[in-house]
Amino acid sequence: MRSHYDVVIVGGGVQGLSLAYNLARSDLLRVAVLEKSYIGSGASGRNGEMIRSAFASLEWIRLFDKSLQLWESLSAELDFNVMFTRTGYLVLASTHDELGECRIHIERQKELGLDTRLIEADEVLRLVPALNPRWVTGGILQLNGGSARHDAVVWAYARAARRLSVEIFPHTEVIGIDIKSGSVSGVRTTKGNIETQTVVNAAGAFAGQLAAMVGLHLPLEIYRLEMIVTEPLKPFLPVALSSPHIMGYMHQTTRGEFAGGAEVEGRLPFSGLKSTRMAVQNMARKFISLFPGLGGVNLMRQWAGVVSKTPDRGPLLGRVDKVEGFLLSAAWGGYGFMGSPAGGKLMAELILTGETPKHIQPFNLNRFKTGKLIVDSSLVVSTESIEKNEKNRR
Ligand SMILES: Cc1cc2nc3c(=O)[nH]c(=O)nc-3n(C[C@H](O)[C@H](O)[C@H](O)COP(=O)(O)OP(=O)(O)OC[C@H]3O[C@@H](n4cnc5c(N)ncnc54)[C@H](O)[C@@H]3O)c2cc1C
Repeated sequence: MRSHYDVVIVGGGVQGLSLAYNLARSDLLRVAVLEKSYIGSGASGRNGEMIRSAFASLEWIRLFDKSLQLWESLSAELDFNVMFTRTGYLVLASTHDELGECRIHIERQKELGLDTRLIEADEVLRLVPALNPRWVTGGILQLNGGSARHDAVVWAYARAARRLSVEIFPHTEVIGIDIKSGSVSGVRTTKGNIETQTVVNAAGAFAGQLAAMVGLHLPLEIYRLEMIVTEPLKPFLPVALSSPHIMGYMHQTTRGEFAGGAEVEGRLPFSGLKSTRMAVQNMARKFISLFPGLGGVNLMRQWAGVVSKTPDRGPLLGRVDKVEGFLLSAAWGGYGFMGSPAGGKLMAELILTGETPKHIQPFNLNRFKTGKLIVDSSLVVSTESIEKNEKNRR
C-alpha cells in the first residue's frame, strides 16, 4: 500500500468497483479501493440480480435508464461476460389498484422514452402461464430489462479496474478518517495510514458508520433482505418479475433455478448475515401463492444480505456540505446492483470534472434538509418510513 492516493474508495462492492474502474479510465488519478472483507462480500454478492429502469419518478427513471443503457454493452466494455440477459422485466399488478398505479407509471415512462408497455391480465398469463391467475390483473413489461450474474459483475469491474492500475486491498478496514481545516487529509486503516484529499463512502450497509468518522449523520436504516434458490426446474419464468403485492422479486437462472427474495412483514431483526427460518417460510408461502407449481420443489440455498436505506429510499450521491473531499455513493437500498454502471460513471464524472452530473444532482444529502424528497411509488420496498416522513412534513 502506498502512502498517498488521489482517491480512496471505501467499499469493494459493485458501486465502489464501478467507480474505481470509471475513474481509472481517465488515467489521471491514482486510485485505491479498501475493502474490509473480500470484494463482493457485501450486498453486491448477495442480491437478486434484477435490472430495470421502469420506475415511476423522473429522477429514478433518468438515473436507472442511464444504467440500463450501459448494461447493454458492459460485457464487451469490461472484457468479461457479466451474463446480462435481456429477458424483459415484468412489474406484476395483482389488484385493480395496482393496475391503476401501473397506468400512472406508464404515462411517465412513455414521456421519458422508455421501452415499456402496459399489458392486460390475459397477455401476462400468455407470457407466464405458470402464474396464479388470482394474482394477475395486468402489469408493465419492460422489454430491455432483465438480470445479470452478481459475482461476475463484481469480478468484471475489479479486473478491469486493476488492468487500469487501480489498487484493490481486500481485508483492509478503514477505522478512521482524518480532517484538517474542514477537508479530508487521510484515512486510517487496519493495514496502515494513507494520505488523500478525496474519500468516497461506498460502504453499503455501513455507510452511516463511515460517515460518523467525519462527524456526519446520515439518515439511514439498515435492512436485512433474504433470498432463496430452488433446484433447477424446466423453464417456466421467461422474464425477471417483481410483485409489489408480495414485495418480492424473482427470476429463473439459465441453469433453471428459481431465485427470489421478498420483504418480510414486521422486518427481520438485524443480526448479521445468518439466514432465518422465518424468512424462508414467509418467502416460500408468497412464491407458492404466485406460482402454485413451486409447491413441493426443493430449496438449494438461502442467504441474507444487508443494505442501508434513506427515508425516501433513494441513494445518497455526491458531495456533502462542511467536509471537503468526502463524497457519498451510498444507501442504494435494493437497487444498487442495477444502478452500478451509471453510479460509477456519474460519480467518476463528478470527481474528474468537479461538476455534479444532472442525473445524480437530485440524490444529494441536502434533500433531507430542504424536504425535496424523491418519492417513487414503483419501488418494491416497504414504505413505512416514507409514510412516517411524509406525515412529519405535513
Ligand atoms: C437479498 C438482496 C437482494 C437484492 N436484490 C437486488 C436486485 O435484484 N437488484 C438490485 O439492483 N439490487 C438488489 N439489491 C441491492 C444491491 O445488492 C445493493 O444496493 C448493492 O449491492 C450496493 O452496492 P454497494 O457497493 O453500495 O454496497 P456493498 O456491496 O454492500 O459493498 C459495501 C462494501 O463496503 C465494505 N465496507 C464497509 N465498511 C467498511 C470499512 N470501514 N472499511 C472497508 N470496507 C468497508 C463492506 O465490507 C462491503 O463489501 C439486493 C440486496 C440484497 C441484500
